[in-house]
Amino acid sequence: MVSRVIPVDPFDLVIFGGTGDLARRKILPGLYRRFVAGQMPADSRIIGAARGELDDAGFQKMVAEAIAEFVPAERQDKAAIKAFLERVGYVSIDAKGTGGWDALKSRMRENVVRAFYFSVAPALFGDLAERLHAHGIADAWSRIVVEKPFGRDLASAKALNAVLAEHFDEHQIYRIDHYLGKETVQNLMAVRFANILFEPLWKAEYIDHVQITVAETVGVEGRGAYYDKSGAMRDMVQNHLMQLLCLIAMEPPYHFDPDAVRDEKLKVIRALDPVKPEDIVRGQYLPGGGQGGYVEHSEDPASRTESYIALKCHISNWRWKNTPFYLRTGKRLRARASEIAITFKEPPHSIFDDAQGWRENVLVIRLQPNEGMNLMMMIKEPGPGGMRLMQVPLDMSFADALGAEAEDIPDAYERLIMDVIRGNQTLFMRGDEVEAAWAWADPIIAGWEARGDRPQGYDPGSSGPEDALMLMHRDGRRWREIKG
Ligand code: NAP
Repeated sequence: MVSRVIPVDPFDLVIFGGTGDLARRKILPGLYRRFVAGQMPADSRIIGAARGELDDAGFQKMVAEAIAEFVPAERQDKAAIKAFLERVGYVSIDAKGTGGWDALKSRMRENVVRAFYFSVAPALFGDLAERLHAHGIADAWSRIVVEKPFGRDLASAKALNAVLAEHFDEHQIYRIDHYLGKETVQNLMAVRFANILFEPLWKAEYIDHVQITVAETVGVEGRGAYYDKSGAMRDMVQNHLMQLLCLIAMEPPYHFDPDAVRDEKLKVIRALDPVKPEDIVRGQYLPGGGQGGYVEHSEDPASRTESYIALKCHISNWRWKNTPFYLRTGKRLRARASEIAITFKEPPHSIFDDAQGWRENVLVIRLQPNEGMNLMMMIKEPGPGGMRLMQVPLDMSFADALGAEAEDIPDAYERLIMDVIRGNQTLFMRGDEVEAAWAWADPIIAGWEARGDRPQGYDPGSSGPEDALMLMHRDGRRWREIKG
């Protein structure tokens, strides 16, 4: 199998916050990998921008260190790094100030794609948009990439959309959700819409329930003060898990086209029922394993912010009537694992006596680790023991299927940045989608705040609070094991 790398058009990419954590860990190493893969044309430029007083050489040194730290050693090539760094420069700019903008303007070339990555605190997004416009840097070739979080409720998301819309058209705004850049997430669309196999079964009649899990082993230590204002609902469910739910639940778009796909996702969000209080479980990790618990990390002993949430939601439309979607995400859990599991119903009638051996068909889409898919099927147990049934996985790990080429699969950030340059918004959230997701999440959050609910404690390294298990048991179902 040969994967094709199609170079994008030459571009000037400005990374505001170019010296920050995200730029160093993801954006710059990712661009280096795209350069080595031949996807970033040689006549492209990357300009870091932040307040720090650096010159080009100082920033290039920082980029070289980021590549050394975050690109696997076997993929580091001295000559390629040198060639990449020749395309890297730096401008000192304060997003709230007036200095540096003319210097930035003088670096931008005419008639090439201009991308501005806002890898800074969201409070600065409006300032950047306004100044890019005021200094005549934003032109028809320009587009902006906006990091999460996009608002903390409907009102703030609307305000942010409004301020960006003053200076940029919607087709120039790329709201990033890196979950959408994952290979498997896109494969989910390929599996659903490029095969006849699943679509006829993809409905309440044949699907018992869907589970979406995003489990992390890390806690919030080091960024507890920030996280405490957010919590798992705002940080993960309203955006990442919601996007995954949309891709599973949406109707087939008429074409794989940005607005066609996003129109269908929006319909799903709007069809979500309000979530009942008894269908929500919130948790906070307790101390353990020699480490402090959530309240120590958040620096607020009385914090009611959740580091874990599980909830059951329903989509009120013909396709999904009575098929629950269970979502859960949390920190300091047993393993780092993200997956979507679609559990099918049992056949209407069994011709086999071996009812004991029967298990549901489950399609598991693994986002991490080891991206791939797995279809749990029933077969005959091999051997002379008569007609006994057993469940086996039909396994497709990308690493196994693609061999060495799996190494060249771009990570989510790389793929999404290349999509920005191509002008393809399919994998980016539209303004109305983000607002609809907040319109769904806001009353849920307001509900537990009004009730004064406290999150339930859970042990670090566990699968989450006891009540989350009960949420499923009550319905005669169980969560899949969280496995790394
Ligand atoms: P960070 O490490 O704190 O870096 C912030 C960057 O912004 C630095 O380069 C900083 O440099 C620059 N900056 C701060 N104030 C500025 C100003 N007034 N004008 C111009 N530049 C300014 O933050 P980060 O973790 O990289 O996060 C950046 C954005 O990505 C945030 O919106 C965050 O929510 C989002 N995000 C981050 C991650 C992650 O893994 N880190 C993941 C998802 C989303 P100076 O101080 O020199 O100006």
